[in-house]
Amino acid sequence: SSALFCWCRAGFEPELAAELGERAAVAGHPGYARTERGSGYVEFLCEDAAALNRALPYSRLIFARQKLLRIADLRGLDPRDRITPILAALDASADAGDIPALYGELWVEHPDSDAGKPLAGLARSFANALRPTLRKAGRLTHQEDPGRPRLHVIFLEGDHALVAVADTRDASPWPLGIARLRMHPDAPSRSALKLEEALLTLLDDEERERLVRDNMQAADLGAAPGGWTWVLMRNGMKVTSVDNGPLRQALLDSGRVDHLRADGFQWQPRRTLDWMVCDMVEQPSRVAERMATWLREGWCRQTIFNLKLPMKKRWEETRVCLELFEHQTHRPLIVRARQLYHDREEITVYARPR
Ligand code: SAM
Repeated sequence: SSALFCWCRAGFEPELAAELGERAAVAGHPGYARTERGSGYVEFLCEDAAALNRALPYSRLIFARQKLLRIADLRGLDPRDRITPILAALDASADAGDIPALYGELWVEHPDSDAGKPLAGLARSFANALRPTLRKAGRLTHQEDPGRPRLHVIFLEGDHALVAVADTRDASPWPLGIARLRMHPDAPSRSALKLEEALLTLLDDEERERLVRDNMQAADLGAAPGGWTWVLMRNGMKVTSVDNGPLRQALLDSGRVDHLRADGFQWQPRRTLDWMVCDMVEQPSRVAERMATWLREGWCRQTIFNLKLPMKKRWEETRVCLELFEHQTHRPLIVRARQLYHDREEITVYARPR
């Protein structure tokens, strides 16, 4: 009973289901999604889920916070012994090949939804009970080893657990796929966390070193009250912040920020900037088009922008806007898009010319 299992933002199950359905079909592994609205996850069933898992890299998925290969769906578990069926499921799948015999880590998770939160205590104590048993059975390394596949046990209810596997090179490094960042007391707005998470998840370590540097020039469109500007400034950049609204005074006092009261859809820089970021609340197609203009005209070397998705058919809208963006840029691009943990009704996009 193998399947793909993905966590997502509660309420965005239809978007993730549509995304998986479309991408699986394109990859030659048609199947169907099973989900419940508000549950915070989607399961996708197809004939060869392991092959689909390899064909759909986590980094390409927009609405998935995490991507796992589910190897067992255990219902009606006896609360006195939930461990034996899990060990049996591991034996069975290891015998069937394709699934690893030895894991480098164990995570016990539960949905981040109202329905799932009461399972937190069970998940914690169960992890403590299962870990030594797995080690004794030769299924778990004695030291955590992130180089090996990670075992996930997911409690959907007290008597219903899934067993799943993460390829650590092709999965989120955070439990539930949630990057928990702490808000800095000086940050002008919670939005700062969005840009921090974007830099952390849409760039890899090497890119962050190379592409986020002191004294780079940046523009922030729709900047007020200044959370994104603050993140750029903290990374050593000089920022032109475009917004008719007010910016937090501390930013202006830093000497690294220029505030321009202008329309973010009209303003353009005189010289090529290293970065342009944009968090303007506007129709997503209008933002996508403007972002394409920036890259096409060479006004910036790279960009991070948000597309707000308040409408229905948010997967459709996402696809249409990203296609429009790539098409209107008129040049080969690296594009990465994701609904971040700190994104609400929106997604975040990173792009630069190839
Ligand atoms: N990123 C900001 C932060 O971290 O504090 C929050 C931005 S807020 C979500 C959206 C901003 O976009 C608002 O301040 C609004 O004034 C601005 N905005 C909307 N349309 C704009 C436009 N056409 N030109 C400039 N700013 C615009």
